[in-house]
Amino acid sequence: MSSPALMLDMVSYAYGQVQAVAELSLNVAPGEVVCLLGPSGCGKSTVLRLAAGLEEVQAGRVFINGQLVGAPNHHVPPESRNVGLVFQDFALFPHLSVCDNVGFGLRPADAARRRERIMAALGDVGLAHLDQSFPHMLSGGEQQRAALARALAPEPKLVLLDEPFSGLDTRLREQVRDVTVEALRKSGTATLMVTHDAEEAMFMADRIAVMREGRIVQEGTPIDLYRRPASLFVAAFFGEVNRLAGTVKNGEVSTRFGRVPAPFADGSEAEVVIRPEAILVDLDGKGVATVPGRVVSVHPLGRSTRLVLALEDGTRMKARIWGLHHPAAGASVGIGIDPRQAFVFPAD
Ligand code: ADP
Ligand code: MG
Repeated sequence: MSSPALMLDMVSYAYGQVQAVAELSLNVAPGEVVCLLGPSGCGKSTVLRLAAGLEEVQAGRVFINGQLVGAPNHHVPPESRNVGLVFQDFALFPHLSVCDNVGFGLRPADAARRRERIMAALGDVGLAHLDQSFPHMLSGGEQQRAALARALAPEPKLVLLDEPFSGLDTRLREQVRDVTVEALRKSGTATLMVTHDAEEAMFMADRIAVMREGRIVQEGTPIDLYRRPASLFVAAFFGEVNRLAGTVKNGEVSTRFGRVPAPFADGSEAEVVIRPEAILVDLDGKGVATVPGRVVSVHPLGRSTRLVLALEDGTRMKARIWGLHHPAAGASVGIGIDPRQAFVFPAD
């Protein structure tokens, strides 16, 4: 078996009193795209900087392609790690053409071969026609693609991306994301990408590692994490949730919507967590959604409509229904839940 492209083994790092990364372990297999997902300040960038060699590890070990590159008193500098880096601010050299930017990390071997690599890397991100331009002549999206081409041109086995799309507006972000995924897949490089955007992580990643306060709290495929979050934190990080509290009795919690299995001790408090798309809304009162309620507000969003509902006791529920057919504000509706999409956690 080949070694992981990146292996972090119980890595820790503190800035003075601030423990940014705590005993964190993570592998990225050759060719795999892993996203490190978590809220701002949880230590994502520090993990990337440790992998890149921009910070020296204080405890634990970093391996790249099976070679120890970081440990206390053993630090291989960034330029000797053969790693491609792309940061949020692109950091292209303003005085170099796109072509020279992309060629920056290439050994000045034979000129024809060098030119070939540059043009192939630019071609993969759709920028071959801009090779003679300078960074200030490029749009934000083009600059980002040029930065990616620069990272990929030397054919590194590992690419590290830190919030690479956060400087782009929403529409552009989707385009650049598509190009980036394709270029990464084509290159076959292993990738560790940092983001605070769950949807972006789901779009990009083979595997997501969710981080909180310097530690990984759950790892899995995008669908695993979405469908089987291990905590309220992870569930809520993947989108808005409804929360219903209850007491466990005979392995179940009863809610207004019926009983939900809760494998916790009798008498303990639990929380049932339901995503808005798992709330059933019955417009004519004849379906399976039987708890009476009323529509408080309606926000048509195009592909879906977001509703705020109120139960008779005043409890608010957020629902998302597909399509354009939706009830009006003030309407009486039946409300239910899809129990297969309800998660139960011990109360905090
Ligand atoms: P993220 O990328 O997830 O937002 P960072 O890795 O940048 O998180 O930061 C993790 C923690 O370390 C935060 O509390 C942050 O304030 C702190 N931190 C980051 N860089 C420095 C620094 N150069 N000096 C002091 N504290 C820092
Ligand atoms: Mg960061």
